[in-house]
Amino acid sequence: MLKGKTAIITGSTSGIGLGIAEAFAASGCSIVLNGFGDADEIDALCKRLAQTHGVAVVYHPADMSRPEAIEALIADTERKFGATDVLVNNAGIQHVAPIEEFDVDKWNAIIAINLTASFHSIRHALPGMKRRGWGRIINVASAHALVASPFKSAYVAAKHGIAGLIKTVALEAAEHGVTANAICPGYVLTPLVEHQIPDTAKARGLTEEQVIKEVLLAAQPTKQFVATGEVAALAVFLASDEARSITGAILPVDGGWTAH
Ligand code: NAD
Repeated sequence: MLKGKTAIITGSTSGIGLGIAEAFAASGCSIVLNGFGDADEIDALCKRLAQTHGVAVVYHPADMSRPEAIEALIADTERKFGATDVLVNNAGIQHVAPIEEFDVDKWNAIIAINLTASFHSIRHALPGMKRRGWGRIINVASAHALVASPFKSAYVAAKHGIAGLIKTVALEAAEHGVTANAICPGYVLTPLVEHQIPDTAKARGLTEEQVIKEVLLAAQPTKQFVATGEVAALAVFLASDEARSITGAILPVDGGWTAH
């Protein structure tokens, strides 16, 4: 379906990003993986994806908190593959604490990685997309782009910011064959969620089991975690030609959470 296209997926060494990379590789797309992790494991991951799906897979180590590294990610991709056809802004981090105690460095890091990184990647990738008359910008935002939860001030601010950024880019790119959309997952059981369970337990005075049942899954009417593959399948559809009229959309995949 996406044969001949190249996709950058930021933060794709783990969790949702890895699921999206797998799904794009399965669609015939060349892949630029990105994110942190053990060098040997990342190398093995690139080889496995390339062999399983018969596509080119390269790794770029850009730290998405660094604007110059983001510029290099786009430039190196265009040099190697000729184009960034699909840009999936997925890298993200989380920190959970009451605002009075919220660590300032953590605030700055969350805004840099979860919001500002997308400004930089989009501003560098969009000119080529416009020139070629085809492009797909897909942000993995969150249900927290639409609603808030206590103790997640930086994350909620960054994700609401992504909704505004994506709508603006959609308007600016609409006549150039380029779409921009945000996918808003509910809770997906990835390392990002696993790590926040102990902090949420502390902030709310609950056990970890109570956090899963009474905080995380309580928000989702389905009472089930969203699967990575469900988010990835929507990302692949948004990259298809059939999705050319879907742009500026903020799309929940949240088991009904934001219907409340
Ligand atoms: P994860 O921790 O499993 O993966 C995060 C990825 O981002 C990793 O590959 C990590 O190496 C990478 N990363 C972190 N900082 C980076 C940096 N500075 N530069 C480059 N890469 C960096 O988390 P996940 O749950 O898969 O989250 C992926 C995205 O999905 C995030 O934007 C997150 O906010 C969003 N999201 C997650 C959930 C959920 O419940 N897991 C729900 C809604 C939205």
